[in-house]
Amino acid sequence: MSQEGKIWDIIIAGGGPAGLTAAIYGSRAGHSVLVLEKMLLGGEIVSTNHVDNYPGFPEGISGPELGQLMEKQASRFGTEIISREVKETHLEENPVRLETAKDTLYARKLIIASGTVPRSLGIPGEERLKGKGISYCASCDAAFYRGKEVAVIGGGDAAVEEAVFLTRFAEKVYLIHRRHQLRAVKSLQEQLFNHPKIEFLRDTVAQEIKGENQVEGLELNDQEKTYHLPVQGFFIYIGRLPQTDAVKGQLETDENGYIVTDEEMRTSRAGVLAAGDVRHKIFRQVSTAVGDGATAAYTASRELQMP
Ligand code: NAP
Repeated sequence: MSQEGKIWDIIIAGGGPAGLTAAIYGSRAGHSVLVLEKMLLGGEIVSTNHVDNYPGFPEGISGPELGQLMEKQASRFGTEIISREVKETHLEENPVRLETAKDTLYARKLIIASGTVPRSLGIPGEERLKGKGISYCASCDAAFYRGKEVAVIGGGDAAVEEAVFLTRFAEKVYLIHRRHQLRAVKSLQEQLFNHPKIEFLRDTVAQEIKGENQVEGLELNDQEKTYHLPVQGFFIYIGRLPQTDAVKGQLETDENGYIVTDEEMRTSRAGVLAAGDVRHKIFRQVSTAVGDGATAAYTASRELQMP
């Protein structure tokens, strides 16, 4: 359904934990709230098999399930959620104007909660074999690798967590990391080192992904030699990049492109707030995104009530 012409109190770009929390608070405060999500609601957690550290779920909860619960809660307070990709924004206008492929939307307050996208390795073979054995989402694609040998690259929480998850399906999982020490938290490292199906290849760089129409192996260098590692799947977890194309050049960002805000989630432009992983911050977690979302909605709500 087209939303053409209507001026919303709050439009939230992004339906992850930050966006959906902002929606819950904004709607519950009595404002008209529209959430725009271009992919799947739930944001990055949808591609996370198991969220183990979000309070209230002592046994953990699957990412998609947590996303669905947040969506249900926002809808209960009257939030409208639609599938749209914001192509262009005019943040200097009041109300802010958003252009999507379908319609023009207007918001008195815009909350950018668009999160991040996976970072590419940028080595030969990556572009050509994307979706043909290369994946950035283990929980989406792991089941294709039942009984096979796969590799994960990266040394952070995401790489280690997903390497452990992949052992449910794959026969063998290699974790490739360019340094000697992992960056992941100790509890995850212990799971990795104690797992009989995982082999840790430290001080190792991937130089090329080999394969005709499907990944067949990797060219690796471990500082002493270059060698071929035959694998059928390659999962890339080397960090993420902020998703800010639609607002580029209009807001202050840090040197890595993350949006700078004050403590109340205000950006450098009046009427525009940012929340969650897209924002410059030190700790990107579901719990910190939720806090950002609540704060952004509170700030927006207060400003909307000002004469
Ligand atoms: P990250 O913590 O930034 O780690 C990225 C890893 O990729 C680092 O180990 C880095 O190596 C490596 N890397 C970067 N560029 C590379 C390249 N060109 N070639 C090879 N390796 C490269 O990213 P993340 O693991 O995606 O996590 C992002 C955020 O989400 C973090 O704040 C993390 O704590 C959070 N997260 C939390 C959980 C959890 O709490 N369970 C789960 C997932 C993510 P170096 O170590 O050498 O820099």
